[in-house]
Amino acid sequence: MYRLILVSLLLTILYYLLRQMFRAFKTPLQDGQQSPSTQRPDDEQDQMIEDPVCHIFVPRRIALIESIGGREYCFCSKECAGRFRNEHPI
Ligand SMILES: [Zn+2]
Repeated sequence: MYRLILVSLLLTILYYLLRQMFRAFKTPLQDGQQSPSTQRPDDEQDQMIEDPVCHIFVPRRIALIESIGGREYCFCSKECAGRFRNEHPI
């Protein structure tokens, strides 16, 4: 009976050790999966930016970013960008 408890205890310890090992292996892999060209952290990509035309908030990663008059503006669509350009001729 004692042997059974000992074996299950050992198996539990072994399981935790293996799990930690897998975690240690996985962590650098996940970092490597991110493309090196975009050094921006994810939260910056998820940042919500207001469209100056229709005032809809768009996540930066899907927003249409245009540089107009030396400033960067984020639009939800090409239509909004075009409207903004018409209203703000440089
Ligand atoms: Zn818009």
